[in-house]
Amino acid sequence: MLKRLIIAIDGYSACGKSTTARAVARILGYRYIDTGAMYRAVTLYFLDHHVAITNPKEVARALDNITISFRVNPAGDSDTYLNGLNVEQEIRELRVAESVSQVSALKPVREKLVQQQRKIGKDKGIVMDGRDIGTVVFPDADLKFFMTADITVRAERRQRELLEKNILADLDSVIQNIMERDRIDTTRSESPLRQAPDAIVLDTTHLTIDEQVDEVVRRAVSLMLKPR
Ligand code: C5P
Repeated sequence: MLKRLIIAIDGYSACGKSTTARAVARILGYRYIDTGAMYRAVTLYFLDHHVAITNPKEVARALDNITISFRVNPAGDSDTYLNGLNVEQEIRELRVAESVSQVSALKPVREKLVQQQRKIGKDKGIVMDGRDIGTVVFPDADLKFFMTADITVRAERRQRELLEKNILADLDSVIQNIMERDRIDTTRSESPLRQAPDAIVLDTTHLTIDEQVDEVVRRAVSLMLKPR
């Protein structure tokens, strides 16, 4: 039997982590978990329910009322559900992107989501992307990647991705948002974005999606075939 792996893909915002992770999971027949979508879903709830993030009681009460799940849609992709409602489209909006790093810096938010992520990954055979997967969620992951890319290239890709979802955003706002999220994500005290010492760096500036995916799959397969 082939060894089932946990593959962790971390890195800066809009480097192609989700696109790569989703494709790798499909090729390997693994489950793909977009942990950014979970933080975005919590943020959407906080925005819609006017939760004051400075009030620990309000935050705790809100977290008790939040259930996040994933369901595969007819196209074979995984959609994010918040309390039973499909929020896949809404969580990609700029208003969510603009608040998510503040919300994800909160300790109780991270504790709740990390616990759920560990539970989902316990049977292995999983590709998980985020900011702290290789450092905090699965420090013993079999394979870890740290993705990075030039900021303009990242912003142009994100803008195109949003357009495909019928969300219009000007390039400057997208650049500002990515830079601000990277700043908050790398400087927060709770699980800041860091490259794990054993992570493989993948600079995607000059790579196509196929090349990124091939690199991850190639390394995964060679690990799966390695005698135990
Ligand atoms: O991956 P995505 O860009 O959708 O993530 C949105 C935000 O969620 C990040 O900017 C970060 O603040 C937060 N996040 C996190 N830890 C993760 C995944 C995402 O803090 N594992």
